[in-house]
Amino acid sequence: MTPVADGPASPAPTPTEPPSDAAQHNPTTHPPSRPSWRCENCGKPWPCEQRREELLAEFRRDRLALLLYLAAHLVDAVDDFQEHGTDVAPDLYGRFMGWARRHPAGTADSDRP
Ligand SMILES: [Zn+2]
Repeated sequence: MTPVADGPASPAPTPTEPPSDAAQHNPTTHPPSRPSWRCENCGKPWPCEQRREELLAEFRRDRLALLLYLAAHLVDAVDDFQEHGTDVAPDLYGRFMGWARRHPAGTADSDRP
């Protein structure tokens, strides 16, 4: 008979999964690559055209939330650029937020009779 080796239980990692019903943003295929803040997918300055389209759709009903979301990323980008000694792009505000402010908020919803 061979005694079954029952060593000390190894600490199992406990994955913490986000609750499925939380208001999570959809995973994007166009996330920013830090600290360069270029799109991981298409390599364009983030947010790229595709990501902007996604964000407009995700935040269609809450433009203020979109601007807050973008502002948080703008702050992160400035931190990254300063921390890594990268030249800060001259129009970061326009790149991160200007397009969302300029974009017409109206959607097809307001066109209904
Ligand atoms: Zn992209």
